[in-house]
Amino acid sequence: MREVTRIVAGTFVPDRRSVLRRMGMDDADDVPPRVNKLIARAADRFADLAVPAVLLETLTRDEFAAVYRGDGANAADAPLDDIVPRANRLALFTATLGGAIGREIHDEVQTGDPALGYVLDVTASDAADRLAYVAAERFRSVVAGRSHRMFKVLPYSPGYCGWHVSGQRALFDRLRPVEIDVILTSSCLMDPLKSVSGVLVAGAAACHRFRSTYPFCDACASHACRARIATVK
Ligand code: SF4
Repeated sequence: MREVTRIVAGTFVPDRRSVLRRMGMDDADDVPPRVNKLIARAADRFADLAVPAVLLETLTRDEFAAVYRGDGANAADAPLDDIVPRANRLALFTATLGGAIGREIHDEVQTGDPALGYVLDVTASDAADRLAYVAAERFRSVVAGRSHRMFKVLPYSPGYCGWHVSGQRALFDRLRPVEIDVILTSSCLMDPLKSVSGVLVAGAAACHRFRSTYPFCDACASHACRARIATVK
């Protein structure tokens, strides 16, 4: 199965609290009116320029094993080594906000209003991260069929948790996301920049559980896996 989901940008504008959180503030803080105004302007700009789209394609465990192997640069032991064998279904995904929003951020930062450019960048980053969860929800509801409530789906991406960023090459070789106009640069960055990619893992909640005691976890500042795992309990 391969499908593209397109989203109306106006329905996908990050809320003010999310943007504030990413800027290290919260509603309880005395947020200056100028910041509130910048957030509102960035939201309008986002609604005008973003073109959110999600591509996903199912694949077998063996097919994913070849993608995951990539250039052979992954950590010797990583969460996906444990999670994938327990999974029921897998899909690769790429999702993007399109190129116009990135160009607008660049122009505002370079020659326009840098403060607006910064807030627009934060707004777009928040939306791009959420696209991975849109892909996960889409996969859960479409692929798992009637029993979808039993399945929990989480996205996992190259560049995180032992999956080396060079894994993007094998992922893009396999997925070839031409329908949504995302390409990979020689340094494994996606173009447009406000894009996300990875594998969607569908399985019982227990399939996603692991201890964050891999050698590379010592250097992890966020331990974001704990919050992610909590969402599928
Ligand atoms: S602690 Fe950090 S590096 Fe380790 S699995 Fe969790 S998110 Fe990944």
